[in-house]
Amino acid sequence: MTLQLFNTYSGKKETFVPQKRSRVTMYVCGPTVYSYAHIGNARPPVVFDVLFRWLRAQYGRDAVVYARNFTDIDDKIIRASQESGEPIAAITEKYAEIYRQDTGALGVLPPTLEPRATEHIPEMQALITTLLEKQHAYTEQEHILFRVKSFAEYGKLSKLDQEEIIAGARVEVAPYKHDAADFVLWKPSSENEPGWKAPTGWGLSGKGRPGWHLECSAMIEAAFEETIDIHGGGQDLRFPHHENEIAQSCCALETGNVPLARFWLHNGFLNMGKDKMSKSVGNIVTPNELLKSWEGEVLRWALLSAQYRQPLEWTDGLLEQSKKQLDRFYRVLNDLSDVEIVNVAMPTRVAEALNDDLNTPEAFAALHSLRELAVKATGADRATAKSELLAAGNLLGFFEADPGRWLKGRAADKALDDAAIDALLGERAAARKAKDFARADDIRDQLAAASVIFEDGPEGTTWRRG
Ligand code: AMP
Ligand code: ZN
Repeated sequence: MTLQLFNTYSGKKETFVPQKRSRVTMYVCGPTVYSYAHIGNARPPVVFDVLFRWLRAQYGRDAVVYARNFTDIDDKIIRASQESGEPIAAITEKYAEIYRQDTGALGVLPPTLEPRATEHIPEMQALITTLLEKQHAYTEQEHILFRVKSFAEYGKLSKLDQEEIIAGARVEVAPYKHDAADFVLWKPSSENEPGWKAPTGWGLSGKGRPGWHLECSAMIEAAFEETIDIHGGGQDLRFPHHENEIAQSCCALETGNVPLARFWLHNGFLNMGKDKMSKSVGNIVTPNELLKSWEGEVLRWALLSAQYRQPLEWTDGLLEQSKKQLDRFYRVLNDLSDVEIVNVAMPTRVAEALNDDLNTPEAFAALHSLRELAVKATGADRATAKSELLAAGNLLGFFEADPGRWLKGRAADKALDDAAIDALLGERAAARKAKDFARADDIRDQLAAASVIFEDGPEGTTWRRG
């Protein structure tokens, strides 16, 4: 069976064949870097990492070009900078680096390209100029807007009709919009906001900055210059973000009907209880926080335990279950640590599971069968069994740790001697006195991770090992 992917655009599973086998192209909308990502935000990079790895396995490492952007100019970033007094570039640099590190800890391979919006302002401006020339955009009160009615295909991806589009656009009353569904391509910046001078032909007087949707269209064009094979993101991006990307790119292109992407893939939500995990609801946990208590592979296993289009409920039980399952694999791998790896093909059941629209739960079931085979294997079969288990596990981004180290657990990694514990407790007392509660909490977490139990009493703090 060849790879089948559910294409949101057609509403069905389709056989995936790239335009060129030597250059398979994929773009996934990346984070807006102004604070920590939550574990729901980590679902797209992990899911599309599985696809990236699977495409590389089939077409060759260098044949797959995967771009994931950083949105580093945005109202939320500007607000964060105004509130903290930190320069915008310092904020975006810091959170981009945290994002790289945290996704790396979840086994996410670095994408081939990581374009940043602010590095592509000239391309964004060129796109706007084309849209203005072709009458798909207009200038009004220092804004430039996309004229949605000028694009007949608008709504095809999200399958919304005009009324739903207008309702869904959640438009604030905006006097500069000729039509409620129109969206901003460029907006004015005040003196204390970052901005770029507009090309003279636009008829704008002051500085301005791009709208979010425009950023992706321009970065895709800059990275690929052609219709891409796959475009991905979370399901909330279908409308309006991806619909708007399609409108901008298709209208700007020469013939007007060159698609932006052939396959549109959208992951389902990660939920806490009934609600989608989101910053605005406030029900978030961050990988950055979770990684203090859990191995990255445990988080990755939990994130891939549901097929990517299904909702995924995030619970402590899910993490404990994921850890237990990984422990079972590592115990077997530990028992086989004397066995040499041999060359094997990718086990069929794992390949078939991934080919079926990245059915990771089925791939996990296949891994368990391989594990059982490895337990039963004797003689030369042990090498084949171990090699198949590792080949399939590594493909999915698992079993990268040394089994002995894994089984000892994180406490062993973080073991502290008595003097170090005393020193940390002294530092914690000083931090509390100085009201630096963040530092005091960090030390508490560090001690907890090393299984040190302590108690604050009238005589000072006492501790013992847990
Ligand atoms: P944002 O920072 O909100 O633009 O989100 C970054 C990425 O995470 C986008 O692809 C979103 O669709 C995705 N996303 C946000 N919240 C969730 C969630 N609870 N579950 C899964 N994906 C999400
Ligand atoms: Zn995008």
